[in-house]
Amino acid sequence: MNRVTISADFCKGCGLCAAACPRKIVSLDERAMNKMGYRTASVVAPEKCSGCALCALICPDAAILVEKEV
Ligand code: SF4
Ligand code: SF4
Repeated sequence: MNRVTISADFCKGCGLCAAACPRKIVSLDERAMNKMGYRTASVVAPEKCSGCALCALICPDAAILVEKEV
């Protein structure tokens, strides 16, 4: 399975990753807040991830790492 890791401490909750994901499986977490007070992004259905890495490419804070299963 492809793996998407979002570093909450680097996320500022801009939502660009959620908008960019073609599978619409990234969203801002309404419960989790990082130490800077931002709602952070999370992957809600990791099993549906295609590994396209668009979320990681668009993140202005380089908070996302995508590891594609080979
Ligand atoms: S790698 Fe692609 S499919 Fe997976 S969460 Fe990121 S944008 Fe969505
Ligand atoms: S694009 Fe980056 S900074 Fe913006 S919500 Fe997504 S992970 Fe957080």
